[in-house]
Amino acid sequence: AEESMIQSEKLSVIGELSAGILHEIRNPLTSIKGFLQLMQTTEQLNQDYLDIIMREIEQIEKITSELLYFTKPRSERFAQVDLSNIAHETLQLFESQAMNLRIQMVLDTGDCSHFIFGDKTQLKQVFVNLIKNALEAIHRDGTITIRLTSVDQYEKVLIQDTGSGIPQHIFNNLGKSFFTTKASGTGLGLMVTYTIVKNHKGSVNVTSKEHSGTTFHLRFPKVTAD
Ligand code: ADP
Ligand code: MG
Repeated sequence: AEESMIQSEKLSVIGELSAGILHEIRNPLTSIKGFLQLMQTTEQLNQDYLDIIMREIEQIEKITSELLYFTKPRSERFAQVDLSNIAHETLQLFESQAMNLRIQMVLDTGDCSHFIFGDKTQLKQVFVNLIKNALEAIHRDGTITIRLTSVDQYEKVLIQDTGSGIPQHIFNNLGKSFFTTKASGTGLGLMVTYTIVKNHKGSVNVTSKEHSGTTFHLRFPKVTAD
């Protein structure tokens, strides 16, 4: 009985969440449609309308890219995966963007593999979402450090930025869906991150100092060599 209750609770949370997400996607779609209709009526291209349409499309893009790999955990997709490899692949995705913003990205793996048991695509999503936040917090000129270490029975991941930092009073909101302090944020990145890490039996801790930077500490159970 207890188990089925937990199950249905989970379902309602997922239901609420997808309703929220659909809402966040429908709003920009409604606005895109409205401005296109206006241009259709006036039979004229309007640069301001086009700018809004582009912004709204980018917003939908953002939401979908943060959710792309956020699926139900599928145990059959779990395998031994190397966090060094995932971190390396993810950093490559952001290389040109970081260079344009003069943000240095440093990856320290201690020159070794860091194996955990998990879903590679989902873990990549975790790195993507945290690095995105780090880039946005720095804005321009700064450093993002990713350090992987093996401590006791854990693989630890540190993602540190020299950005704006997180004000104390919003700490409790981190990871809540749709919580954002950004003008065009989605408020989904951390929620997705926390959920994926939890599905991997890991944990997330955050330390931050306003105006000097933020560090996310992740911890996953290590795969013992066999
Ligand atoms: P979004 O990035 O769309 O706002 P997230 O869930 O990724 O949504 O993050 C939620 C909020 O947490 C952000 O709006 C920001 O206030 C705060 N935050 C997350 N990561 C960082 C960071 N590295 N530095 C500063 N603030 C952060
Ligand atoms: Mg984000």
